[in-house]
Amino acid sequence: MTETLRPIQHPRPARATAMAPTAGRTVRDELFRSIALWLGRVLLPSAWLGSRHDSHARAAQWALQLRFPHERLAGLTTGMAVALRRARTAAFWEQDLLLGVTSGHRTVDEQNRMLTDDLIRLESVGDGPARALPVEQSQHVAGLAVDVRPREAAMWLERNGHRFDLYRTYANEWWHFEYLPRASGTAPQMLAHPGARGPGKCSTTGAGVQS
Ligand SMILES: [Zn+2]
Repeated sequence: MTETLRPIQHPRPARATAMAPTAGRTVRDELFRSIALWLGRVLLPSAWLGSRHDSHARAAQWALQLRFPHERLAGLTTGMAVALRRARTAAFWEQDLLLGVTSGHRTVDEQNRMLTDDLIRLESVGDGPARALPVEQSQHVAGLAVDVRPREAAMWLERNGHRFDLYRTYANEWWHFEYLPRASGTAPQMLAHPGARGPGKCSTTGAGVQS
């Protein structure tokens, strides 16, 4: 799933969510990113007129909708949705980052399809870490996890997520973040991969799948 504004192809639900956000960025991507950032600032006065207390969040949201028009944010818990909105607002105004979401809440059917695909893959390759979790273990199904893009925004979120109770939880998935209010600002130890029983080394080269 290439990170572009123009093709922002809305992926087919079952398989698209199994694809990792790619880190590549083209000149065109950068152009659209700049336009969205500029528009967010231009629209700030309009956002202020609509809601003086929430103007920065609204303006950032408008820019994000322009940049990532096919995002699906419905189904997240209220806590996760609020945390994500706060994080995206901060990323926008503090660092000029557009924190996109490639996968949020998943239905039971979507997760089951991903799990089936992963079991088939594991059978074909013989062994390897799981890439999809059973429904009852998936925080995406619970509405408590999001996969984000691009890489630089994910890196920012990894450094700043504690401010919003959002934490990266898998060493092999730089894009996967979970809402963990009970962590109280202390990042939990990352697991090696989805389904792992122990911690793993932080990797910047994810295998390209999501939990
Ligand atoms: Zn994920």
